[in-house]
Amino acid sequence: MTGDQEIRDAVAKLCRGFPGEYWRALDRAREYPAAFVKAMTDGGFLAVLVPDEYGGGGLGLASAAAILEEVHKSGGNAAACHAQMYVMGAVLRHGSPAQKTRYLPGIAKGALRLQAFAVTEPGSGTDTLGLKTTAKREGDAYVMHGQKVFTSRAEHSDLMLLLARTSPRSDADRAGGLSLFLVDLREAKGKGLDIRPLRTMINHATTEIFLDGLRVPTANLIGEEGRGFRYVLDGMNAERILIAAECLGDARWFIERASSYAKERVVFGRAIGQNQGVQFPIAECYAKTEAAALMVEKACTLFDAGRSCGAEANMAKLLASEASWHAADMCLQTFGGFGFAEEYDVERKFRETRLYRTAPISTNLILSYIAEHVLGLPRSF
Ligand SMILES: Cc1cc2nc3c(=O)[nH]c(=O)nc-3n(C[C@H](O)[C@H](O)[C@H](O)COP(=O)(O)OP(=O)(O)OC[C@H]3O[C@@H](n4cnc5c(N)ncnc54)[C@H](O)[C@@H]3O)c2cc1C
Repeated sequence: MTGDQEIRDAVAKLCRGFPGEYWRALDRAREYPAAFVKAMTDGGFLAVLVPDEYGGGGLGLASAAAILEEVHKSGGNAAACHAQMYVMGAVLRHGSPAQKTRYLPGIAKGALRLQAFAVTEPGSGTDTLGLKTTAKREGDAYVMHGQKVFTSRAEHSDLMLLLARTSPRSDADRAGGLSLFLVDLREAKGKGLDIRPLRTMINHATTEIFLDGLRVPTANLIGEEGRGFRYVLDGMNAERILIAAECLGDARWFIERASSYAKERVVFGRAIGQNQGVQFPIAECYAKTEAAALMVEKACTLFDAGRSCGAEANMAKLLASEASWHAADMCLQTFGGFGFAEEYDVERKFRETRLYRTAPISTNLILSYIAEHVLGLPRSF
């Protein structure tokens, strides 16, 4: 695979094998899309960001964004596996040579799944620095106690990145004291680590994780002790840009569905799409989506050039998640009562795309970032 169009065509072809019925049945049963994830893995799509030297695709974020956008544009949902693309970035950027050689080739092949990332806790979501899970060094291991929540895909992952406190919070170094660990879930389960599924309004395979005396070898510390939060921040731009790409795919799906339906549905003897009251919301969503797409493209370009892109990554996520949410609401309204019927997939996609105004970071926190870091307004928290 080389050009993004070639990648888009290949993903679109793969997704034709996973139509609305497939996603609807899984949504109803709250089951993991194992066949879809296998197809994405076998096609090499989840390994595009792993460098060639470790057996990955060696491509940039723009290609990864194209893949995820296509999945969502087809009516599917990549949340079951998107983190396999970017969570490995922490190992790639901050891991030791031994960790890279040990894990990255397996991740590239899909033989090892590293798609769980445990940061959020019941008492700290937005306020990451307030997390309470502790990791205390004892000989050749760190012993962990605490609880994580909304740790997605942990039941379908071999490895998990986990952020824990290794020294007390201090005002002198606000971002210090947290460390990042690679937890081998295959070894940890039942030995101080317990995973419990958490049912939500969407089919997302998210969980709660309980840590009670789990021993993680010191060899699994990523980078230096106390610098974990900084490593996590590093990976957030990639995550935000890729989630924004999924939102664009969702928005395009809603716009296409609404346009097609508005051309076909006849009320008062004419297509509803002939009414400007129906046309205009669709056209407005289209314009907003295209504008968001430009910001996603800019953020990808800066990221792939190794340039600073915090503002653009945040704005891409903000604009794309708002565009997809408005498109979702518009599509539901265009479909009238039938939008609520499961068989059209509109209500499912409506629920799914709503997530992105809240996670992985909420709209308010992005606005706060722009206000403080871009516009220089006073710090509010
Ligand atoms: C389906 C799902 C999957 C997830 N997957 C993962 C995962 O895999 N790994 C992981 O670590 N986490 C995951 N999360 C957690 C997600 O990142 C958090 O829910 C999110 O960061 C918000 O944190 P919170 O839920 O604790 O909200 P809170 O921090 O409690 O905030 C609640 C609301 O208050 C607002 N707010 C808080 N403080 C301020 C302020 N100072 N100014 C203005 N507004 C404010 C927030 O914007 C938000 O709207 C997931 C969440 C969901 C729902």
